[in-house]
Amino acid sequence: SLFLDRIDALNPELNAFITVDRDGALAAARAADERIAAGTAGALTGIPLAHKDVFCTEGVLTTCGSKMLSNFVSPYDAHVVSLLKAAGVVSLGKANMDEFAMGSSNESSYYGAVKNPWNTARVPGGSSGGSAAAVAARLAPIATGTDTGGSVRQPAAFCGITGIKPTYGLVSRYGMIAYASSLDQGGAFGASAEDCALLLSAMTGFDERDSTSLERPTEDYTAALAAPASAKPLEGLRIGLPREFFAEGMADDVRAAVEAALDHYRALGATTVEVSLPNAKLAIPAYYVIAPAECSSNLSRFDGVRYGHRAADYGDLADMYSKSRAEGFGAEVKRRILVGTYVLSHGYYDAYYLQAQRLRRLIAQDFQAALQQCDVIAGPTTPTTAWALGQMADDPVQMYLSDIYTIAVNLAGLPGLSHPVGFGTDGLPVGLQLIGDYFAEARLLNAAHRFQ
Ligand code: GLN
Repeated sequence: SLFLDRIDALNPELNAFITVDRDGALAAARAADERIAAGTAGALTGIPLAHKDVFCTEGVLTTCGSKMLSNFVSPYDAHVVSLLKAAGVVSLGKANMDEFAMGSSNESSYYGAVKNPWNTARVPGGSSGGSAAAVAARLAPIATGTDTGGSVRQPAAFCGITGIKPTYGLVSRYGMIAYASSLDQGGAFGASAEDCALLLSAMTGFDERDSTSLERPTEDYTAALAAPASAKPLEGLRIGLPREFFAEGMADDVRAAVEAALDHYRALGATTVEVSLPNAKLAIPAYYVIAPAECSSNLSRFDGVRYGHRAADYGDLADMYSKSRAEGFGAEVKRRILVGTYVLSHGYYDAYYLQAQRLRRLIAQDFQAALQQCDVIAGPTTPTTAWALGQMADDPVQMYLSDIYTIAVNLAGLPGLSHPVGFGTDGLPVGLQLIGDYFAEARLLNAAHRFQ
């Protein structure tokens, strides 16, 4: 109950949790105690955790940060939730998030903004802002998140913790409320790379209920971390630095922290080489066509009929749909649905959607070419440290631009990790992003582990 007490004390200010499941947590903790006493415990048995409220949890409110699902108690567990339950993890509750995972500041949540624990006048990042803030404030030692365009890595950077988004297809999307299905991927937050490795090892695994789940044996990501200590533990690791990520756009204090981190990597034995991702700058326009297109399709299921919010007063069926959706969705979600239906509509499909898919292919090819010259790619996770609450509230395009370093990774389906490397001049954390080839999670986690 240490963590539950911390949540009671600090959550009213931070707003990191939408739902705290005190009774469920205490029951799970008692069950974990029995497993420990019986000698059947695993590494995560009894470890408390916060689930992003995008994951369906049987019998527990699952809102996805939206008024639309403010009354939705899921009848089943997401695959990730059942895997972690089976491992004996104790779920403390559901972490706040941007509505339907759309956003980079956690301000689009129907349940109010989350505050950054380092400075409560700043945003925690998004869309998994509640998960990141909970781990940073030690309201939970580990947390789940999802990353469609940076939503694990960016809040990890803003909150000074470690977050990993694995290769697309490693974590089942079953029971993970869909935003943009070809980009959505579950990920892990922890105070260290080791904690992320433990959590991720328990989250991955083939699931026949997700058509894009990969049929691969699960890996123990902690195994690589156990290598014996040496003065140059990263000897031979070639780190590629994309010219385009180090061009203009990065704040000076972020650049200073990233350069210092790269010096530290070189001291650990790594070498650095310049690489190029010539189409990286096209990632934002491509993403902000593809993601809204998929969201407009995915969110059509919220119609006020089967579950979720239904308007109290309506005329005919069409009026019921439109009033329920008008009332249930917030402004950012409506904006994305409108953009998505527009780019998919007859006459615009070729000009926008198909064109964006072509860019996506080029971006993925750039990464493959760069990864011929290096083992991992490194750069800033975000162009700046966490901005002030409200600062970008009326400027969605400015907020979209802040995703510049993270979203190309989702378009390519590659794994990416962010780990803390220091602080900006405002005292807020700076994150370094490591990007690897498909299934290079262990390599990313090992590098981050040696760095710490
Ligand atoms: N900021 C991006 C968006 O708003 C990414 C969100 C995410 O990864 N879920 O779409």
